[in-house]
Amino acid sequence: MFYNLTKRISKSIFNISNKGKITESNIQSTLRNIRTALLEADVALKVVKKFILDVKNDSIGKTFNNSFTPGQEFIKIVKKQLIYTMGSIKKNDHILNMSTEPPAVFLLVGAQGMGKTTTVGKLALFIKKEKKKKVLVVSTDIYRPAAIEQLEMLSKQALVDFFPCHKKTDSVLIAKEALKYAKTNFYDVLIIDTVGIMYSNIHMMNLIQSISNKVNPIEILLVIDAMVGQDAINMIEHFNTYIPISGIILTKIDGDARGGIALSIKYSTGKIIKLVGNGEKIYDIKYFEPKKIAERILG
Ligand code: GDP
Repeated sequence: MFYNLTKRISKSIFNISNKGKITESNIQSTLRNIRTALLEADVALKVVKKFILDVKNDSIGKTFNNSFTPGQEFIKIVKKQLIYTMGSIKKNDHILNMSTEPPAVFLLVGAQGMGKTTTVGKLALFIKKEKKKKVLVVSTDIYRPAAIEQLEMLSKQALVDFFPCHKKTDSVLIAKEALKYAKTNFYDVLIIDTVGIMYSNIHMMNLIQSISNKVNPIEILLVIDAMVGQDAINMIEHFNTYIPISGIILTKIDGDARGGIALSIKYSTGKIIKLVGNGEKIYDIKYFEPKKIAERILG
């Protein structure tokens, strides 16, 4: 992710002259290059415009003490803006919320094929290892028995417990029973997988809404394949009209060289990316860390 963006931005910043002050003329071509690099990385146009404007406003006319060159000072400004564009300055906003009486319920939702079920397995292992929590997973996808089996297999790989539901025909009931089981057996976290939705399917959206109302999740995480590009924005807005999305999990970033969607989501929807999936293996998941990404982009 961000491969070309990194190459182009670091190259254009290198060209900033070493005068004592940043002026419009000495950053003009750099800003133009950054603009092109962002657009080529598939960052939404309105986000690019705002980004360039903010960097410009922050930098022009700025004078520096002797310890930094204008180039270094400019890099700091671009970095700050990259971090701000990708997420919150407040560290905790990117972290999974568990501040509730256990079990903390995480509901994972999304369109089919985004990597949702795989992510439930990955998340279970991540929380078990990272947070040292007792985790239960359940699938409510009664429409696709293969998805239920897939989650059962993933739970074995993650060495977390799986709540079986093979004979049940009601997704809401399965979720309720799993929650009851999680409470009586002292689980810290219950992760609920849901049916993959074609997002024009109102019946399915209502079903997810009913599950959410019954189990009161602390996190409702929308799983999105990074490859869908700008369509992710419509997806987030659509799901959010039915259920309050608390964060995004961006999957398959290992296959997305451009990465622009990671820079577009927060500004376009107000939602924060919490985690990213970076491979097919059960341990291929990590926190989304804007600061680290910005540092990497700027070389
Ligand atoms: P669902 O329909 O949304 O539940 O999607 P699945 O969990 O069944 O995943 C669909 C495909 O995406 C599977 O082949 C997964 O192995 C693959 N997948 C999921 N997450 C990632 C990821 O982060 N990187 C890569 N490369 N593949 C992934």
